Amino acid sequence: MRKQIAAANWKMNLTASQAETLATALATGVTHLQAGQQVILGVPFPYLILVQNKIAGNQNLFLSAQNCADKLNGAYTGETSVEMLQSISIPFVIIGHSERREYYHETHSQLATKVDLALAHNIQPIFCCGEPLHIRETNTQNEFVEKQLKESLFHLSNAQMKNFIIAYEPIWAIGTGKTASSGQAQEMHAHIRQVLASQYGIETADTVSILYGGSVKAANASEIFSKPDVDGGLVGGASLVASEFISIIESLKPGA
Ligand code: PEP
Repeated sequence: MRKQIAAANWKMNLTASQAETLATALATGVTHLQAGQQVILGVPFPYLILVQNKIAGNQNLFLSAQNCADKLNGAYTGETSVEMLQSISIPFVIIGHSERREYYHETHSQLATKVDLALAHNIQPIFCCGEPLHIRETNTQNEFVEKQLKESLFHLSNAQMKNFIIAYEPIWAIGTGKTASSGQAQEMHAHIRQVLASQYGIETADTVSILYGGSVKAANASEIFSKPDVDGGLVGGASLVASEFISIIESLKPGA
């Protein structure tokens, strides 16, 4: 029905030699995935080609950028375009991570543009959504996340939404050591799928992989991934340690 995915987000961490060491450990350590499972590494721009070379022999590992520009090309100093990513065969890009929304003020409409540019270049977005603590405290997280999805994704066609990847990351759980309970994760993932179903129909909604992100580690991955609407995780801190991330990969359910 849909893929079960362990996606790493290395963020702005590691030197080149550390990235090389981690990529080599994953290239040799990530073997024997079950059917329908996928592993994606969200690597800083300068290391994409370096890691690509290190994981070249491993069919289980795929690369993702952590961001892309909302412009196609031109005089935008410091930006990286989807055209550039496509030209070096990067199949995935993380779009709308809460750190980019918060620190770089990325708006719903900019994210919609990035999603469109990525899809037009055959790059699959991993679209992040999730509420801050004050929204959770007023129990309005469903409406908050629904708006994020509607404003940046609901212009997509049914065909574009098929097999899409969404990461639900409650901001209060990112990098804090505080994880949403598996019940809270399931509740929101089921809500996201229902919102998708009301726009695109249940058949399409069932093909969308919805990953959970927020302090996932080896010790809690199995419990979180066991929930029916949780299709794996987007993992920050714990993805920087090979043994930890491999154990998280081994906690995935079989996919389809
Ligand atoms: C993330 O940034 O996507 C993330 C989930 O980070 P962490 O796992 O460190 O909470």
